[in-house]
Order: sequence, then C-alpha cells, then structure tokens
Amino acid sequence: MGSSGSDQVASGRSVHPLIATVRDFVDRYVLPTANGPTAETEFPHALVQQMRELGLFGTIVPQAYGGLGLDTLTHAAIMEEIARGWFSLSGVLNTHTLCSALVLSGGTDGQRSDLLPRLASGALRGAFSLTEPHAGSDVQAIEARGVREQDGSWSLHGRKRWITNGLGAGVVFVLVKTDPTAEPAYAGMTCFIVEKEPFAATNTGRFAGVTISEVIEKMGDRGVDTTDLVLEGYRCCPDRILGEEAGLGLGFTQMLSAMEVGRVGAASLCVGLAQRSFEVALDYARTRETFGKPIAEHQAIQFKLADMATKIEAARLLTRNAAAAKDAGRRSDLEAGMAKLFASEAAKEVAEDSFRIHGSNGYSKQFEIERLYRDTLCLLSAEGPSEIQRMVIGRQIVAGR
Ligand SMILES: Cc1cc2nc3c(=O)[nH]c(=O)nc-3n(C[C@H](O)[C@H](O)[C@H](O)COP(=O)(O)OP(=O)(O)OC[C@H]3O[C@@H](n4cnc5c(N)ncnc54)[C@H](O)[C@@H]3O)c2cc1C
Repeated sequence: MGSSGSDQVASGRSVHPLIATVRDFVDRYVLPTANGPTAETEFPHALVQQMRELGLFGTIVPQAYGGLGLDTLTHAAIMEEIARGWFSLSGVLNTHTLCSALVLSGGTDGQRSDLLPRLASGALRGAFSLTEPHAGSDVQAIEARGVREQDGSWSLHGRKRWITNGLGAGVVFVLVKTDPTAEPAYAGMTCFIVEKEPFAATNTGRFAGVTISEVIEKMGDRGVDTTDLVLEGYRCCPDRILGEEAGLGLGFTQMLSAMEVGRVGAASLCVGLAQRSFEVALDYARTRETFGKPIAEHQAIQFKLADMATKIEAARLLTRNAAAAKDAGRRSDLEAGMAKLFASEAAKEVAEDSFRIHGSNGYSKQFEIERLYRDTLCLLSAEGPSEIQRMVIGRQIVAGR
C-alpha cells in the first residue's frame, strides 16, 4: 500500500482504496459484532486481529518503519468508517495512532526504530496517559512523579486514570513531573515510555511497579478497556524518556502536540458516529408508518433528517480541513479544535434527533441508536471537552491567527 499522495486526494477528500476496503470490513464484520450479544462485555480480539491484517495500526507510520505511510486526510477517513461501525473499536485505534504520532515527532532515532515497527504492526499496542483522578483538563496539575535515583535510573510514582487501551497495551506513554518546582509547571514535565505485560493487571520482573488497578465501568464505549494505572516505584533507564535526556522537561509539549492528530481523529470518530445515527434514523423513518404513511413523509421528520445531514457534512468538512492543514505541515490546533468542538456537539445533536425519530423504540436495547447515543456522549469529554476546545480556539483568535 503506497503513500496516499496528492494523486489520491480529490476535492479535498481522500479516495484511497483502503477506505472502501475498511467500509466493507465494517459492514461485514464490525457492525454485526457491535450489535451482537458479546459487544458489551468481551474484548473484540478477532476484529483487532483483522484490523492488524489490514494494516490499520500503522496508518500514519512511514513505510520505512513498516507502516502504511498514509496522510492524515486518509487516516481520518478510515477512522470515520471504523467509528460508523463501532465506536469502541475506533477508540482502540485512535489512541494507538496518537502514540505513533508521539514517537514519530518526539522519539530519538533509536526509539523510532525500536517502537514504530511494533506499533505499526499492532504487535505492540499503545496507550497515552495524561489524566489523573483529580486532573484532566488542567494537565499541569498532575501529581505523578519521576525521581532520578542515585544509579541514574528513574523511578515513577503516581496514579493515572481514564487510560484507553490501559489493560491491553504493551506500552503506555505516561506524563509525570520530573521537576515539581518548575515555573511554569509544564517545563518540569516529562513523558516516559512505560512498557508492560499486555492484559496483565499486575506486572512482575522488569515491569514490576506498574499495576492496572481498575478497569472502569462505562456508560458507553463498552467491550474495550479504559483503566486506572498505578505506578509504585516502577524503575526504568534514562533511555525510556521520550527523546532521551534531551526530552527531559518536554513531555507536556510533546504530548499536547501529538494530540493535534488525536483531535482530528476524535472529530472523525464523531462524524462516523453521527453518520451511523443518521443511517439508522433514515432506515427507520422510511419503514415506520403513522397516520397512513411512512414517518419520512411527514415534513417535520424530513426537516430533522435535513438538519442531521447538513450537520454531518459540515462536521466532515471541518475535519477534512483540519487534516489537510496537518498534511500541509501547518500548525493545525485551531482547525483541529474547531473540528473536534463542532463534530462532537453535532454528533450529540444528530444522535438525539435519531433517538427521537425512533420514538420509544430508541429507548430499547434492541435498536442500535440506544448504543450510538451512549457512545456519542463520550466524545463530549474525551480528547478535551467543548469548553477546552473553545479556550484553544478563542486564544488563537485573540492572538490574531
Ligand atoms: C472513555 C474515555 C477515554 C479516555 N481516554 C483517555 C486516555 O486515553 N488518556 C488520557 O489521558 N485521558 C483520557 N480520558 C480523559 C479525558 O481526556 C478527560 O476526562 C478530559 O480531558 C476532561 O477532564 P476531566 O474529566 O478531568 O474534566 P475536568 O477537567 O474536571 O472538567 C470538568 C468540567 O469543567 C470544564 N472546565 C474545566 N476547566 C475549565 C475552564 N478553565 N473553563 C471552563 N470550563 C472548564 C470542563 O470542560 C468540563 O466540562 C478519557 C475519558 C473518557 C471518558
């Protein structure tokens, strides 16, 4: 699979053939599993394996490291397709891709050679850990610590929360304070590469000191692991700092920059979720009859469908715009913030309209919209709530960007 390149990008959208392959994979395998009896309770190992075979764990990783080397525009379109099928599965990939972006931009040559081939194949699955029980939006308020020991190694201490892929990951990129007295606080924060045993709650041997203390029971995003992680004297060498010694104190900047890719991905997930909420609403409206005709023929329902389709298209275009800015090498936090803000709010509104179109059936677990609605609420908070996106956008506007 070659690099996407401009020849495969038409009218501001990617037409890479992998997108159609993924759509087919979603229709044939993902949707039946997402709507099946085990989706709420069992990790989808078989689908993850199929995603590995499609190369989806390495979409943005350069071919030199074993990835597909796709551009952000194509990656975003693939993420939209996966989320259309099952949000839980797309979260597994989005966070993993964030980790690859982090290693690509912040890792040393040695760290890239070590980690990227394993991340690209999905042999090593990644997790990305900023949040703590008392600190989410206010990242600089984290308390986890990294202490340099007398032998030059580092020991890590603290409790992290809300880690997507936390249990299944073989590597967690963890932000800690290495200089708690630093002013500003972000200058004393460092990203550590914490390897661990996948799917083991307690680790021993060289991974001793890292524990998955809780798998969080969630409203939506079911079937996949979001966890706490406790570091109790986890020991590692200085080469486990992202960027090695030169990366000391750069963790905040490294991880928040990588989140630009994550926000484009998150916006894509919102578009995919909204698209599916719309599809099930349209199907339902065409078949459900009241007062002698399908409800789709009532103007009030048509207006809802029109608004839903318009919001989805607007969200998709904002997302593509942010992806294209990233691909052009431009700073894209403004565009990514706008895309995430608009797409997450639009997805919630579309899901709610779809729910209303379903009447009381929307409240039944027998209908897909029940799951879609719960899943959609996740992205009002995860990857940065709307208030924080507005802060990012507002600052840029006032600064004259
Ligand atoms: C399913 C799921 C998966 C997640 N995965 C990850 C992950 O992999 N890694 C990770 O690090 N985190 C992850 N998170 C955590 C997520 O990123 C945080 O929850 C999010 O950043 C918000 O932080 P918080 O919950 O602490 O809210 P808080 O920061 O406590 O905010 C609470 C409310 O106050 C608002 N608020 C906060 N500050 C301001 C302000 N200055 N002005 C106005 N309003 C404000 C917020 O918008 C929000 O509405 C995940 C969350 C979920 C639900």
